[in-house]
Amino acid sequence: MHEVGLMENALAIALNYASRERASRIEQITLRIGDLSGVEPDALRFAFDVVTQGTIAERAKLIVESCPTLCFCHVCQTQFQPTQWDYECPTCQTWSMAIVQGKELELTSLEVS
Ligand SMILES: [Zn+2]
Repeated sequence: MHEVGLMENALAIALNYASRERASRIEQITLRIGDLSGVEPDALRFAFDVVTQGTIAERAKLIVESCPTLCFCHVCQTQFQPTQWDYECPTCQTWSMAIVQGKELELTSLEVS
């Protein structure tokens, strides 16, 4: 399950930040995951419980924000949101695989105390 590895990375960033802030607890972690990242939010929550055990992030609240896929059309120079199987530009019907957003998994905010 690759969610565990991803979560370990996110937690490492969070713990690093917390120690710089001299925080004693991590209260809340917000992660943004792209629709194309292949990450299952439920699996991510499970991984979170596993990797935070025994750390200052144990019992922290995990917020998962999903972000939609966005493609860029080189013909119209615009971004559009493709449907699940259709990456055609709605304006000029050009096929685009220039994905500008949707594969990310990033830590967007952190609350420590
Ligand atoms: Zn277009």
